[in-house]
Amino acid sequence: MVKFNTLLVRGGKPNDNSTGAVNVPIYNSSTFRYPKLGSDVKWDYERSGNPTRDAVEDVCAELENGDRGFAFSSGMAAIHAALALFKPGDHIIIGDNIYGGTFRLVNDFLKPRGLEFTEVDTQDIDAVKAAFKPNTKGVYFEPVTNPLLKVSSVKQIAKVAHEHDALVVVDNTFLTPYLQKPLDLGADVVLHSATKYLGGHSDFTAGMIVTKTPELSDRIYAVQNTIGAVLAPQEANLLRRGIQTLNLRMDRHIQNAQKIIAYLESNPKVSRIYYPTVDKSSNDYKIISDEAKGAGGVLSFEIKDGLDAAKFVNSLKLIILAVSLGAAESLVEVPAFMSHFEIPKPERLKMGIKDELIRLSVGLEDADDLIADLDQAFQQI
Ligand code: PLP
Repeated sequence: MVKFNTLLVRGGKPNDNSTGAVNVPIYNSSTFRYPKLGSDVKWDYERSGNPTRDAVEDVCAELENGDRGFAFSSGMAAIHAALALFKPGDHIIIGDNIYGGTFRLVNDFLKPRGLEFTEVDTQDIDAVKAAFKPNTKGVYFEPVTNPLLKVSSVKQIAKVAHEHDALVVVDNTFLTPYLQKPLDLGADVVLHSATKYLGGHSDFTAGMIVTKTPELSDRIYAVQNTIGAVLAPQEANLLRRGIQTLNLRMDRHIQNAQKIIAYLESNPKVSRIYYPTVDKSSNDYKIISDEAKGAGGVLSFEIKDGLDAAKFVNSLKLIILAVSLGAAESLVEVPAFMSHFEIPKPERLKMGIKDELIRLSVGLEDADDLIADLDQAFQQI
């Protein structure tokens, strides 16, 4: 078995190419010929499978130490497919800080269809334990949350969930398999918005699921093939290409994040920094050190009360004001006015998301340039 960095570059590539092409070709074919009526063919129709998509699904399964990978047209399509493992009457415990789009799927789509959910602070293992009911069939959470970078333990949650025969589904978009492998820590299903770090270049949307067992693979495949929100071959190829440099990019994202944190720590206009390794005495630090190889490239910070976050982000010249994360470009957003705008203010403040909170997805530019950009924007407020 080769090492992870080799798998990133070489994994998942079928050796069936008569041309000698080093890469898997982009098979733009929605349908595939049967040599004869009744022939046993590997591919017959793109929704059910396509060689280019298969290649990226295979590499992701290898990277996560899972059974099979499944590529979708967006992270939300992957989340929908994972939650389709549950049926009306099932109760699922969900993290209270998960991605807003997932809350929308849960509240507006799945609850009206008879699935039951309880929101729990998954950092509090006693609260997780207390939330189980006789019909609890799953726990769904993000090991590192947005925008406050709260860390939950996959190991501890998986242990509790399995004592109740519940499935553990983890959205690991923030850490990627380079930094953490949830299936090795006890999760049953790991998923990603591959739009973010796995793709890495802000040029398409994608989702990925990797399952731990053949039984779960059969169930997810049935959903993927039935609902049909599959990743197209062009995007599957871009995703495969992005994954080849995941290690290099994540290392640089983390390095740049650390340099920016050092700058923010010395800035009198900053009142608080959110990043799992900032407070070495915290439980978050303990968990991230035990269960991951690093904390990723997203950080948030609060500017002092009364300082104008809008003026600050509008003054940035290099860092781009945009939602999303995990890109080569550094992106900034103000959660209170962008990603978390729909949440009523009292609820948002209770979640810890103040008007002065700024989230930065640290990109791959030179850290000195990013710091210079932040510094000139600080001078405007
Ligand atoms: N999960 C997380 C943690 C996210 O940040 C996002 C998007 O921002 C999603 C899922 C949804 O992914 P997509 O936008 O690719 O549908």
